Formats: sequence, structure tokens, C-alpha cells
Amino acid sequence: MSEKNVFEASPEAKGKAKQLRLFAVLAWVLAMAGQVFAILKLISDETLIWLIVAIVVILILAITGSTLWKKANKLDPASEKDKTRFFIQNQLGAIMGVLAFLPLVIFIFTNKDISGKTKGIAGSIAAIAMVAAGITGADFNPPSVEKYTEEINQQNEAAKSLGIDSDNVYWSAAGNKYHIHDNCQHIRGKALSNGSIKQSWEDKGISELCKTCKKKAAKSLVPSDVKELIETE
Ligand SMILES: [Zn+2]
Repeated sequence: MSEKNVFEASPEAKGKAKQLRLFAVLAWVLAMAGQVFAILKLISDETLIWLIVAIVVILILAITGSTLWKKANKLDPASEKDKTRFFIQNQLGAIMGVLAFLPLVIFIFTNKDISGKTKGIAGSIAAIAMVAAGITGADFNPPSVEKYTEEINQQNEAAKSLGIDSDNVYWSAAGNKYHIHDNCQHIRGKALSNGSIKQSWEDKGISELCKTCKKKAAKSLVPSDVKELIETE
């Protein structure tokens, strides 16, 4: 595999990923602040309702953070070569999700001033929230530079077999498809970029051939093949 075929996120994609990561960190900081507040102020029989409200708010913040974080990873994935970094970058959402609740769960279950009932209700809700934040934060199919590179090469091959010029496709910033025709119904009237299949990946992360354009290409392939056959005879 030659160097030029290796995926590298475009400066725009990297910039957008950076922004998403910043918001993700902000959401996690707020979740942690919420947790500290809950530990200091809300673990008592009188404030059980408010403790539950705080748990829900922390959970929303934790999930928001990991969703933004995973989105950023899709735009600007890590390389599998550095195993530690690859793991941390892709599973940070799960790590932060657990950290947003683990101290709270411990503080609830070890508290001596609350009733057993409060302990049971608040503790189990916080534990469930921790598991939920951990699972939704984990990336079970993490993107990587290597996966993207392989996918781009496969798509280039597929394009070739369909008679598509892989250096001349169109895409809009929104959506995760690239198109063969700039007048395709799905991108009509939108601001378009034009370039190679690889560039469409580097611009916006995961990118696939539009089904409508693919059908059109497959259709136009048949007559030209038949024509060729007739000409060679
Ligand atoms: Zn299309």
C-alpha cells in the first residue's frame, strides 16, 4: 500500500473534531461538578428526590459528552499503531461515564446517616446510571486510520469495477455519502465539494457511495459492455 493512499483527516475535519472534543470535555466537567455537588449536598433522606434529579442530569451530561467525543473520533480517528492511545481515545467516553458515577455510588453506599431505604433507592439508581453511561460511552466498533484506509481502497476498487472515476466524485458537508453526479437528487441545491473518494473521507469521516448514483452507474455499465462485445466481434 503506497503512502499516498493512507487516510489523513483534512484540516477542516480536524478543526471540527477539535471543537467537538472541547464541547465533550465541557460536558464531562459539568457532569463531574454535578457529582461533587451531589456528594456534598444531596446524600440525605430529605433530599432523595433532588439526588435522583442530579443523577439524571449527570447522566445526560455524561452521554452528551461521549456522543460528541465519538463523533469527533469518526472525523479524526486514532491510529491502531499506538495501542494505548487508540484504546484511551476510543473508550474515553466509557471511562468518563463510569468516573461520573463511581465516587457517588461509593459515597451513597458507605454513608452512615441515611436510611437503608434511601441507600437502596439512590444507590441502585446511581449504579444503573453508571452502567448506562459506561455502555453508551464505549465504542464497540472504533474508527481507525487503518480501517478508513482499507475502506477507501475497497471503495476505489468497487468504483473502478462500476466504471466510476474515483478521483471525480461530489459530496456535501452534511450526510455521509459521495455522489457520481453533481445533479443527483440527494445533493441538488447544496454546496458541494468535488474530489477523490479518499478526499471525501478525509473531509467528513465515513463516506459511502450514494445508492441512487450507484444504481445509475450499474445501469449505464450494461449497455457499454454489450457495445464493447459487439464491437470486438
Ligand atoms: Zn447520488
